Amino acid sequence: MRELDGRISVSTWYQGAECAMSFTFDDGTKDHSLYVKPILEARKFKGTFFAVTGWLDSGQGNAGTWAMLQELDGLGHEIASHCVTHPALPQLPEGLDTTPGTARYELAHAKAEIEARLKKPVISLAYPFTARSEAVDALAGSYYLANRNGGLDADHPVWNPSHSPQWMNLTSFTPRFPAVRNSPKDDLPVLERTKSALESAIPQRGWAILMTHAVVPFAQLATYGGWETQSTEWFTDLCDWLQVKRNSGAMWIDTMGNVTRYIRERDAARLELSEATEKEIRFSLVDGLDRRIFNQPLSVAVQIPANWKRVHVDQPSQRPQTISLKRKSARTLWLQMVPGSGTVHIRRL
Ligand SMILES: [Zn+2]
Repeated sequence: MRELDGRISVSTWYQGAECAMSFTFDDGTKDHSLYVKPILEARKFKGTFFAVTGWLDSGQGNAGTWAMLQELDGLGHEIASHCVTHPALPQLPEGLDTTPGTARYELAHAKAEIEARLKKPVISLAYPFTARSEAVDALAGSYYLANRNGGLDADHPVWNPSHSPQWMNLTSFTPRFPAVRNSPKDDLPVLERTKSALESAIPQRGWAILMTHAVVPFAQLATYGGWETQSTEWFTDLCDWLQVKRNSGAMWIDTMGNVTRYIRERDAARLELSEATEKEIRFSLVDGLDRRIFNQPLSVAVQIPANWKRVHVDQPSQRPQTISLKRKSARTLWLQMVPGSGTVHIRRL
């Protein structure tokens, strides 16, 4: 919790979860729409899809289409950037936004094209081949708010911290499968290893990120190709396990973009308390951030005085509600609010 004053705090993670977790899918392949989408949607999970814009609609290999990404975007998934041509950025000259074959072009043009198609800001990036350098980090940071890299050592997992993560070098975990896979059973040790890597984010109160490439039915693994391709059977088992973690309140599972927004809004939020009397509390949150990008609700805990049995809560653009606080332990009122969205009014009844 980040305490703003004696009675109002912002939860470290959304809805008081103990850690955050993001699914990420690389390369914009068609299996993401065919196989990943229904598995995520059945559990109300939203993922981040890193598109290589120059490959879309190419009909080459397993390339997906803009129409597929537009549908994923409409369902609330995040469409993010994996550059235009999937280059190793440290090997390119810095160049200009408008000069193909340069690092600036790869970063700027992919972002601009996705933004033009989807009509919303693109804030997340994944370096192709997870190839980075300090110079690339500095350049990428002028276009994007966060970059996902690899790097988690599953034997000694250290997840992204809840405060001040390395924004241009976020750690992720990639499940590595055996060279010979005769039946879905051969992948089970990797499932256990993946669960334990993700679960370690809970005691660390950190942010776990899973890196996935293609996902196809086990029977298609050999013919579909791809790098560390997961089977739909394996991915479904993992999602079933994650669903239990989510439903128990241990994990907040959301897109990389929304977790990025949450951290930045939470750490920038300031309290403006306009009234705190025997009868009412009136306050707003402000953070000075750009609302076109930062629209993620924060989970705010308000301590209600012990003698207030019922309260009326009025929040901008939400239906007013009356809440009974009969039990002594239920002295905390939880609100979801976007900073800068106006004043909350809590009145004793
Ligand atoms: Zn890639």
